[in-house]
Amino acid sequence: MPSDGAGDPVGQATQATQATKVDPADPVNSVGQVNHVLEFPGGYTRSVGPVIGRFLTELRDARLVGVRTAGGRVLVPPTEYDPADGAPVTGEYVEVGPAGTVETWSWVPRPRPGHPLTRPFAWALIRLDGADTALLHAVDLGEIDPGCAPPPTLTTGLRVRPKWRAERIGGIGDIECFRPDVTMITDPGRAEYRLRPGRALGRFLDGIAEGRFLGHRCHVCGKVYVPMKGMCPADGVPTTEEVEVADTGTITTYAVNNIPDPRAPEVPFVSAYILLDGADIAMVALVAGIPADQVRMGMRVKAVWRPREEWGPTMQNIRWFAPTGEPDVPFDAIRDYL
Ligand SMILES: [Zn+2]
Repeated sequence: MPSDGAGDPVGQATQATQATKVDPADPVNSVGQVNHVLEFPGGYTRSVGPVIGRFLTELRDARLVGVRTAGGRVLVPPTEYDPADGAPVTGEYVEVGPAGTVETWSWVPRPRPGHPLTRPFAWALIRLDGADTALLHAVDLGEIDPGCAPPPTLTTGLRVRPKWRAERIGGIGDIECFRPDVTMITDPGRAEYRLRPGRALGRFLDGIAEGRFLGHRCHVCGKVYVPMKGMCPADGVPTTEEVEVADTGTITTYAVNNIPDPRAPEVPFVSAYILLDGADIAMVALVAGIPADQVRMGMRVKAVWRPREEWGPTMQNIRWFAPTGEPDVPFDAIRDYL
């Protein structure tokens, strides 16, 4: 459904008052005819009939109703005749919703004047619970910068509920918009841990403060541990021989995360085990600069460092790892490091 939101019900209302639209600066069209301007300046008032009238009256009371057809289906919004066979509907009104399911949608990255929301939103066909037809309305996905792509939470099947206006007049605008069900909360609590890095980890972070990855090589098995722990877990011996490894490496395994994290640029984001060139143990880091669904085992990556003036003895110096564009490393070369 990628679209700029041209299907615009508010736009239809505008068309009702302007049968023909011309450029006033150019009243003669391309085939030499003079365009006549026909304009109804003030809109119009009409009666709505019993069926739509009932729908609008219930809206004013913050209820959603549909009408049952002779065939048993529930039409929302209701019509006087069944669009399937033209038969008059029954007089039975059925309360539906208020929750519903998005059946299809069209993203509006830059709302125009007259749109129901001033920030990016979606026009959606929403099938309210208990209804057999869908209702067109706006879905508000929260604070989104103008021009941005739709958030990944906007999908067919998304569950939404109406946001009612406090003052209602008996119109479809009595529903300000629909909003997704609440599926997540942000806990304001914050856990902070302080730990003494110890001699080995402290030395590693000193290296990071200089833009270098330091490790230890075990004198028994020859493996290089980054970060170093001061001992070899395989041989149980202390390690002291310091080596510097590259800030490039290979993704061994990775995970796609769909829960927001303040360190990650967006959701979904990827955290990966990265085997730095010259190291024998993989370390965990973020991967960015590539869509999450294109990250691969064996992909070559390089650390993206923050500006040097922001460096300190912390892993925050590294924003994340980004692809280098080199060919992938074959699985056999990394299988022992998984
Ligand atoms: Zn060892």
